[in-house]
Order: sequence, then structure tokens, then C-alpha cells
Amino acid sequence: MSVVPHWINNKQYTGQSATNAPVTNPATGEVTRRVALADQHDTRVAINAAAAAFPAWRDTSLAKRTSIVFRFRELLNERKNELAEIITSEHGKVLSDALGEVSRGQEVVEFACGIPYLLRGGMTENASTSIDVTSLRQPIGPVGIISPFNFPAMVPMWFFPIAIAAGNTVVLKPSEKDPSASLWIAELWSEAGLPDGVFNVLQGDKIAVDELLVNPEIKAISFVGSTPIAQYVYATGTAHGKRVQALGGAKNHAIVLPDADLDLAADAMVNAGFGSAGERCMAISVLVAVGNIADELVAKIAARTRILKIGDGNKASDMGPLVSKSHRDKVASYVDAGEKDGATIVVDGRTITIDDAADGFWLGPTLIDHVGTEMSIYTDEIFGPVLSVIRVDSYDEALELVNSSEFGNGTAIFTNDGGAARRFQNEVQVGMVGINVPVPVPMAYYSFGGWKNSLFGDSHAHGLEGVHFFTRGKVITTRWLDPSHAGIELGFPQNT
Ligand code: NAD
Repeated sequence: MSVVPHWINNKQYTGQSATNAPVTNPATGEVTRRVALADQHDTRVAINAAAAAFPAWRDTSLAKRTSIVFRFRELLNERKNELAEIITSEHGKVLSDALGEVSRGQEVVEFACGIPYLLRGGMTENASTSIDVTSLRQPIGPVGIISPFNFPAMVPMWFFPIAIAAGNTVVLKPSEKDPSASLWIAELWSEAGLPDGVFNVLQGDKIAVDELLVNPEIKAISFVGSTPIAQYVYATGTAHGKRVQALGGAKNHAIVLPDADLDLAADAMVNAGFGSAGERCMAISVLVAVGNIADELVAKIAARTRILKIGDGNKASDMGPLVSKSHRDKVASYVDAGEKDGATIVVDGRTITIDDAADGFWLGPTLIDHVGTEMSIYTDEIFGPVLSVIRVDSYDEALELVNSSEFGNGTAIFTNDGGAARRFQNEVQVGMVGINVPVPVPMAYYSFGGWKNSLFGDSHAHGLEGVHFFTRGKVITTRWLDPSHAGIELGFPQNT
């Protein structure tokens, strides 16, 4: 059986580690290949390649760097269907969704093509007598990117286009559950003309991550994954002197006010709750129904949920399987717990069967009403196709619920009342807010990131915050002496 290798210095690298892990097709349950798991030596080979490539890449002209990023964009645009198929075969999401993920990642590549403009510094002439001041932003060095299983292309693309365009070199450690997309991307970079060692892929698990977090050659870490690991990565990376942005888990609420268009809200709840089988950090997992609309809204959502077609993402399905058997069973166990705790299962995805693929990791969309805030189905991030409904009497109660959550990634409000929406955007303690938009993922030229336990660090991903994260400032104060100047002055420099 083939083993997905690492990618170092623009070629495949098998590594010395004999350890590997199975990669499955979630729609069939079949192990289709294995993936190499780096040991400390293999990790250092990747880091050393990135470190060796850095000096020449940072000194490569902006014009040349941009032309390579632009070429990468062109190749990606031409061939993104290939990447989408790879994603579906290892992650399970339906093809249209996989293509959507690639397109959202491509937007960041397009943003990075504007790097000459984004890296412009400032200049002040005659700030003090005969003194000029210039500010620059320079790359920081080799950077590590550690990504989760749920967006094997888009999440790495939140970071590496900007990191590379700004003159850094990269070691990407993708999720071991769906490693092949990153290798395809690496080959595309090579075809686009990226020099050896600028973009490296390291397959692995905690062993690889731990070396990236402590190795002094790595200057910054961009991590995306669950909250406990994000906390660990942030604490360990910063303790070793690195700049770290660690994006964590989520539990996103959507509030529906009594004046909302209930059909629009019901469509949105189904799309945001069950798209990608709920394995999205911006999925809506809690619907907060305000006032007397709950019965009608739940009925509309249930009707739409019951007709969703579940099946292999390569076929004409609305929703694919979950990523692994253990994850499927964990999500189902949360539904069991919710039922035991007294919630009402309106649509039960646990009973689903798929005739021609009995061994796939199936769990149908599940709608649960009358959920209480003390239930584990509410308190924990479930990361599956499970939409919980909480009923409250007022806007204030709904807001309090959202703001009490330990997470603050995304949220949405559905209303036709502009005043209520405006108040919500001001008061809610969440990083990304949708108004009648259920999955408010910011465009590439804005920055993506949550608050509270959904992000550790100061910088959100991409947009200007991404450019700042992958560069550091330098200010140069210059005086070209004219012959009239002379004299010694030991006091602190003052403006004159
Ligand atoms: P995960 O935390 O299990 O894994 C993320 C990465 O960390 C992977 O590369 C994995 O190999 C590595 N890892 C796993 N265990 C580790 C350990 N003990 N030490 C060091 N590294 C370790 O997350 P996942 O299951 O792959 O992805 C789903 C999670 O990611 C969800 O919690 C989801 O909310 C979150 N997520 C967040 C965002 C966001 O923008 N905030 C985006 C996508 C996913």
C-alpha cells in the first residue's frame, strides 16, 4: 500500500521514521493508503531545508516573488477540480463543498499577489532637522503551519500564500487524517517555479508538532485545531520565543428574532448546521429561537432536514460522511447523551443506512429541540451534523447565552430589524458576525479569527493581520551629514 511521503526541497522525501498511519475513504471505510509520520530527525530535515532556503528567498525581488505566487494562482485555478477530488476522497465532504473550500483558499492567494503594495513602508522627510525616517516590514524566517483535518486545502492557504509572498519559508504539517491535498499543493508550487526549500510539507503527528514548537530555526507558528491543542501550541511556542497564532474550537450560535423571515432562517440553519457534515469551525450548532416562533421554525427546519440526501461526496449527495469511525461514534454518543438528558430528538441521524456503503462513517443530520444549557450536547464542541435548539423569551436572554459561551468564533442573527442587528454587532463577544448570513467567513482581505477560547494570540489569519504576522517592522532614522554639523551631545535624542 502506498505511503504519502513528506515534501522537502521540491521533492518527495520518505524520511527515516518507519512509523505510518492509515488514511481512509470515509464514504467506504476502506483504508486507501498510509501516511508517513515524521520523527524528530525527519522534522529537522524539513526545518533545516526551510532555514537554508530563507536567506536567498527573502532577498529575491518582490517582482519575482509575486510572479511565482501569481503563477501558482493560475495553476490552481486551472486544476482545482483535481484538488477537490483528493479532498473528497480523504475528508468525505461533497465535491461542490470541496471545490468551495479551494476557491476560498484561492482568494488568499489572490490577496497575496498584492504583496508589493501590502509591504510598502513609510517615509518621513526632515522629521527632525536633516533627519529622515523610514519604516520597513521584513520577513521573519522559517515558519511552521499546523492544520486540522476539516479544511485540508483552505486552512493552510489562509497562511502560506502570505508567508511565502512576504519572503518567509514554510514547513506545513497537515492533519494526518487527510494528508494528500498538501502534497498536491506542494507539487503545484514546484511547477509554479518556487525555489527548493521555500515550501515544505511534513507529514506527522504530535512528535512533528513538538519539534516545530521548540526548534529555534522556526520563528512563528500558525496553528488551527481544537481548543486544548491550540492552548498547548500557544503556550509551548511562545515559551520558546516564537510568534504564535493558534485558532481553536467553536460553538457557534444563531439567534432568530420573532420578526425574521422564517423560511430564510430555516434554509440558513440547514446549510450552516449540516454543510460539510457540521465539520466546520463556522458551522452553526446552536439555534437560539426568540419568542413564539420556535414551533414554526423547528418544523420548517425539520422538513428541510428530512429531505437531505446523504451519501458519497463524489455522487449527487447533499452531505457526506464524517471523517472517521471514532469521530462518528463520538458525535452519536453526544446525541445519546442529549436524549438521556431530556432533549427532544426531532430528526434522528443515528438511524441512517446507506445501502451500497454500509462501512462508511455515516451519521445523518440531527435536529434536537428543548436543549438545556447544562447538557453536554450544548456545552461541548461536537463537530458533527447536530443542530441544537434553545428557546428563550427575549433578545437579552439570547445575547447573554452567546456571550456566556467559552467560545467566540462565529455567530449570526436573523432579523428584519436593523436596530436590533446593529445592537447585536456592537454587543456580541464573538470575532465573526453574520447578519442574515449564517456562515460569515471573512473575505481574504479581511482577517479571520475568533475571540475567547477560539483564538490564542494577537493576530487573526490573512488580511492585513496576516501580513503583519508574517513580517516584522523596522524603523530607520537617517542623517546625511552636511559639512556645517559638528559637536558632541550626550543627552537623549530630542526633536529639534
Ligand atoms: P486537532 O486539534 O485534533 O488537530 C489539529 C492539528 O494538531 C493536526 O495537525 C494534528 O496532527 C495536531 N495534533 C493533534 N493532537 C496533537 C497533540 N496532542 N499535540 C500536538 N499536535 C497535535 O483538530 P482536528 O480534529 O484536526 O480539527 C478539528 C478542530 O479544529 C475543531 O475543534 C475545529 O473547531 C477546529 N478548527 C478551528 C478553526 C478556526 O478557525 N478556529 C478552523 C478549522 C478547524
